[in-house]
Amino acid sequence: MFVYRFTGHYFVVRVNNQKTTLRSTLFSQIKPTASKIGSVYAFTYMDSAFDGMIKIGHTSRSIDLRMEEWADCGHGRPYLLKSFSKVRYPEKVEFLTHFQLVKEWHAMRWCKYHERSHIEWFKTGVSAVSQVVQAWISWIERANPYDRRGNLKDFWRGIINFLSEYEIMITAELMVQIQEIEDGTISVASFIDDGLPR
Ligand SMILES: [Zn+2]
Repeated sequence: MFVYRFTGHYFVVRVNNQKTTLRSTLFSQIKPTASKIGSVYAFTYMDSAFDGMIKIGHTSRSIDLRMEEWADCGHGRPYLLKSFSKVRYPEKVEFLTHFQLVKEWHAMRWCKYHERSHIEWFKTGVSAVSQVVQAWISWIERANPYDRRGNLKDFWRGIINFLSEYEIMITAELMVQIQEIEDGTISVASFIDDGLPR
């Protein structure tokens, strides 16, 4: 359930009611039917009503085909801003990105062609989206955090519970850093700067 606040002509702010969060998205199982590999994309339309708005989605088919379909909405041809291919668990990467960008989340009011609202729009910049998507991709590739049944591994459950307990904001970038410590590519000491001699 989401609460919508009507703002502009096309878009409404999508206010999260906190039941689904980045944390719960991390914990939720990757369904056996979910794509193992696919693409994540970000696009907009040239129409000025879409200024500053970016749609973030995923597909296990070709991005070109998906863009053709987004032309059906009646706002002209979509303009692809960024795409990532050969993404492991693309739907999970998409959802994690959405919830990291939750404050920027918007929804379109109604699409006559598809007879529904398209709800995955974000008022943000391409570089911000790219950075978040790339970091979630890296974390999933390097950490391999989900087991063969699609469940989050105990190590990461522990890390996330720890971060929540201390109210440390979970981000893809932080998860990558934690994995780098695990890999030994950076040391924990680089995070500790208390001036004490060791
Ligand atoms: Zn549509």
